[in-house]
Amino acid sequence: MTDPNKNAGDRAGAGLVFAADLGGTHLRAATVDHSGRIHFRLKRNTAKSADEIVRALVLAVRECEKQNNEASGDAGSVIKAVSVVVPGTVNVEEGIVVKAPNLPCLDGFRLTAALTDELKRPAILENDANAAAVGEMWLGAGRSRRTIVCVTLGTGVGGGIILDGKLWRGVDGAAAEIGHMCVDPFGGVACGCGSRGCLEVYASATAIVRMTREASPRYPDSVVPTSAELTSETIYAAGLEGDELALEVFRRMGVYLGIGLANLINIINPEMIVIGGGVVNGWNLFEKYMHQQVAERAFPLLAARVKIVRSECGDDAGLLGAARLAFSD
Ligand SMILES: [Zn+2]
Repeated sequence: MTDPNKNAGDRAGAGLVFAADLGGTHLRAATVDHSGRIHFRLKRNTAKSADEIVRALVLAVRECEKQNNEASGDAGSVIKAVSVVVPGTVNVEEGIVVKAPNLPCLDGFRLTAALTDELKRPAILENDANAAAVGEMWLGAGRSRRTIVCVTLGTGVGGGIILDGKLWRGVDGAAAEIGHMCVDPFGGVACGCGSRGCLEVYASATAIVRMTREASPRYPDSVVPTSAELTSETIYAAGLEGDELALEVFRRMGVYLGIGLANLINIINPEMIVIGGGVVNGWNLFEKYMHQQVAERAFPLLAARVKIVRSECGDDAGLLGAARLAFSD
């Protein structure tokens, strides 16, 4: 791909692109211009079949176009290209969703061909965490950097790696599965990928909830509710109030995350690691333990060099990265 730092307006002119972040639960979409300004956005529940997902995306494109035409008083089509990111492995060249564990109806589906057929304009596909890395490098914490790692702590743990300005996809487009780096080989918790002890089972929102339930018998005085509504957010909120159970869970999470980051730092020697996703809200509770592990495990020169920071694009990192990729393709 092209360098995210280069001028995005070079080839796409002054038009808009339609960017969509297709999650397991929600479809979030927006029209974005070449400077990264979001014009219209919408959010829908994710449909349950490939055909319905295509139809939802087509309707979303038409709705964004209609809104834009009304706002500008111009009936001409302004959306130049469509860019969709999904939580899974994708074949970028062929526009195929290879495997998406949270959207299994798309496994093997030729998504870009279906969209181009309907919309008569170019469509591209990318992995959501890769797109988030591109978004952070374009308009977020990684601006003006060249080599960054982006870690997304959400329902699962995703990753994107940009090496010397280029997104690193690997030979099969499946690189940067940072969430499936092993950080605990002995007695490790089983992971959805089939392995055990992956970073995802200690640092995702799902992991925060599981670790809280597991540890709660040891903290009878904890105010953290042990009900079905337990979320990483409620656990974080309890931690801010000094709840010992919540503090212990975020300490453990920070230790495992730090081990994973130390491995990445020693292998990649990045300028910056950007951490995003919902769990990053607990930053003040896990930051210290994460940094401790990095200091203890990474090469001192590399650890001193790398900046570990929070995402600046937040939930929009994937959308903005999707837009950036469309402007550069
Ligand atoms: Zn795994």
